[in-house]
Amino acid sequence: WWTQVEMGPPDAILGVTEAYKKDTNPKKINLGVGAYRDDNSKPFLLPSVLKAEEILRTKNLDKEYLPISGFADFTTAAAKLAFGDNSRVLSDGLNATVQGISGTGSLMLGANFLRDFHSGPKEVYMPTPTWGNHIPLFKRAGFTVKQYRYYDPKTCGFDFNGALQDMAKIPEKSVILLHACAHNPTGVDPKAEQWKEISKVVKQRNLFPFLDMAYQGFATGDIDRDATAVRMFVEDGHQIAVAQSFAKNMGLYGERVGAFTLVTSSKEETARVMSQIKIIIRPLYSNPPVNGARIAALVMNDPTLRSQWLKDVKGMADRIISVRTRLREGLKREGSTKNWQHITDQIGMFCFTGMDKDQVERITKEFSVYLTKDGRISMAGVTSGNVDYLAHAMYSVTK
Ligand code: PMP
Repeated sequence: WWTQVEMGPPDAILGVTEAYKKDTNPKKINLGVGAYRDDNSKPFLLPSVLKAEEILRTKNLDKEYLPISGFADFTTAAAKLAFGDNSRVLSDGLNATVQGISGTGSLMLGANFLRDFHSGPKEVYMPTPTWGNHIPLFKRAGFTVKQYRYYDPKTCGFDFNGALQDMAKIPEKSVILLHACAHNPTGVDPKAEQWKEISKVVKQRNLFPFLDMAYQGFATGDIDRDATAVRMFVEDGHQIAVAQSFAKNMGLYGERVGAFTLVTSSKEETARVMSQIKIIIRPLYSNPPVNGARIAALVMNDPTLRSQWLKDVKGMADRIISVRTRLREGLKREGSTKNWQHITDQIGMFCFTGMDKDQVERITKEFSVYLTKDGRISMAGVTSGNVDYLAHAMYSVTK
């Protein structure tokens, strides 16, 4: 049956980890993975999450199916986390929120819903560059994927003017994908004033904004500050779509906990939209997994666990910020004359170092430092133990 099936290319990011595993150099560093690590390079179990699991274990809960739309305690808390406790969207019932299979599954629900019901062109505009999975995900849902300028290689920062110029030319009613915070792969986010301008152009062009929020809390360490873009767009009167992931900010990667929300214009519209999202979910996976949603709901809804969680998130964000500073200092100490300010200007899990393909190849070959070809490093893989070695390696291949 399958003789005609050609071998597909390996996943670019998972391939980095494969190569890393084979390397026998004891100094090797894996900066390819997009998962948080503690200062000993170990996966981090959040104390708030461990406590929630302990509480849940004592309850001996059954494993019955969740409703198609997921665990209500979770979806309500997730929507509040995104839109804010006092959001009018929530008090007026203007959110159709369902549990999704982490961020990816939530994006996919959105893409499928837009394919079926969006009245504008089936075109989605994404930043250059964007998370590698965004493009195939929307293509599979039947969209033509186009891009707008975002990252400026000259400054290793945000190309604000380029982005606005490109957005101003997007055909009306198209979908525009925005990273709500901690842009992956660049670590470059618009400032609040710049978001305001983006919001204006999106309004003028009558675009449909889809915000991907996979790192709430990871950018600044503050859950509310990281929701600035989402809340500003709502304040400005946009009816947005939001995909949330709890993989990073709760360390629930493999539990696949996420939420998808469409903002509507009335309670009655919410009910109609909700019914259609459920019709999309039912033949795809019937209903979402229960375990992670219970954990996330308890962490968000129990006041003690929630305050612990906010500390846990801040702890992760702060560790990343501190290794950024140490990496930059290390490069200076090595004698690098390059401007590495972007290492500390960029935020979130990733740093777009500006190293080119050849330099990436050399740092891997000569120093066993593994990263994606685009020069992106996961700051979560940098620790007090390897930061000086990394600075030396980066200096050596960029001097
Ligand atoms: N969006 C972005 C921008 C991401 O970086 C990620 C994770 N790498 C996701 C969505 C989704 O991740 P997950 O499905 O694991 O929640």
